[in-house]
Amino acid sequence: MPHIKCSVTECQWNNAIECHAPMIQVDHNNTGTANTSDQTKCETFKMKS
Ligand code: SF4
Repeated sequence: MPHIKCSVTECQWNNAIECHAPMIQVDHNNTGTANTSDQTKCETFKMKS
């Protein structure tokens, strides 16, 4: 897994502003196609318990 910098520190996979998930899935953000990064989202996000 390459280094993935992620600022979503509420995610259980996040450690020191880096993603430590074994893999991530990124999908469209409720749009059919994406033209900007705002139109994508990380599906692997999981709230810290
Ligand atoms: S799973 Fe997604 S939201 Fe969570 S740390 Fe990794 S890239 Fe960020």
